[in-house]
Amino acid sequence: MPKLRPAIFLDRDGVINIDHGYPHKVEDFAFMPDADRAIKRAHDLNIPIFVVTNQGGIGLRYFDIPAMRQFHDHMLTKISDAGGYITEIAFCPHHPSSPHPEMRDCTCRKPQPGMILELAKKYHIDLPASAMIGDRPTDMEAAHAAGCHGILYESGSVLTVMDAALQHISIMAKPIS
Ligand SMILES: [Zn+2]
Repeated sequence: MPKLRPAIFLDRDGVINIDHGYPHKVEDFAFMPDADRAIKRAHDLNIPIFVVTNQGGIGLRYFDIPAMRQFHDHMLTKISDAGGYITEIAFCPHHPSSPHPEMRDCTCRKPQPGMILELAKKYHIDLPASAMIGDRPTDMEAAHAAGCHGILYESGSVLTVMDAALQHISIMAKPIS
């Protein structure tokens, strides 16, 4: 069994990029304060970083998956330009008000922990030693339901909450045996 390792889970809209309501256009992309530096800081410490994002705008037909992927490609390029790295982006395309019945119910939309649990299984992540940073109570609920630490970002530099997440990881780190 591979050794479990800690990770950082990041909400996207309102934590990595400015959330002006269902952002999906490349030209509207802008980092939240110091979000790019915060991602680099965790990456420099060799901590895997995952994005866990509700994209209900897909279920609502505000935009489609190719548009989201273009937005993500742009975001990942900007993050890479700043010296950071995202291991994987998990997204939930569902929305309870979707016109498509099959797009309404799921186990991935936060506050459910589905996306975090899937990533943890795939990448052998130590959830109690990991932290999820989000700007909404639903992010905290998802974190707790998954069994990881939740850190609420309210305003100011994202570096501040990233440092809190990295501190949690260092406190929870198991000594190498
Ligand atoms: Zn979903």
